[in-house]
Amino acid sequence: MILIGPPGSGKGTQAQRLEQKLGAVHLSTGELLRDEIAAESPLGKTAATYMNTGRLVPDQVAVKVVVDHMDRGDPDADYILDGFPRTRIQAEELDRILGERGLEVGKAVEIYIEDDVLKERLTGRFACVKCGEGYHKFFKRPEIEDVCDKCGSMEFDVRSDDMEETILTRLGIYHLETAPILPYYENRGLLVKVDGEKSVSDVTKEIELILADVG
Ligand code: AMP
Repeated sequence: MILIGPPGSGKGTQAQRLEQKLGAVHLSTGELLRDEIAAESPLGKTAATYMNTGRLVPDQVAVKVVVDHMDRGDPDADYILDGFPRTRIQAEELDRILGERGLEVGKAVEIYIEDDVLKERLTGRFACVKCGEGYHKFFKRPEIEDVCDKCGSMEFDVRSDDMEETILTRLGIYHLETAPILPYYENRGLLVKVDGEKSVSDVTKEIELILADVG
């Protein structure tokens, strides 16, 4: 399954919830790229120059992290792809990568949501420095102020690409480069749309129903 949606639409949150429920592997290209940056690898250094300003990394870089991750993992795994593909070239590459492994796209789920709602969501995001648990200043505060619910750390930071001007760039790029891949899946009868303004658990339920259909 592919999750397609603008930044802040809840792709990562949904993928995490569905990973547990479905026993599928959550593959987030954004996460993999952030790991490369943290490891200060050559690929990470290249990726950082794009990501810090909200631009997409080059297609071959995104494709490489997906292929490397799939090559290391269980060949029989089902995947929830979060943040990949993001361009037409990546969508075509994905078909090739999956074809080589005897896999195919089961469903492409579009999480749609208005830009104004997204801006509000994205500007409030912060995360635990130690374990990466995500929070939001309006929607999901830690139970004890300034203490991570998961690991107890008191250090938090804001993703460098969640700064206001970068958010606007990321939204613009979504409309320009990623939204045009929706017809690629629609024409093959694979696209389903979910309202991303509904509650987190309602969106999960809707996606589960869609996947039950795929079998
Ligand atoms: P995300 O965590 O999915 O919001 O991704 C964060 C950033 O990583 C994006 O704004 C891009 O700079 C980069 N990125 C993630 N996935 C891709 C992709 N498939 N293609 C190009 N850039 C990507």
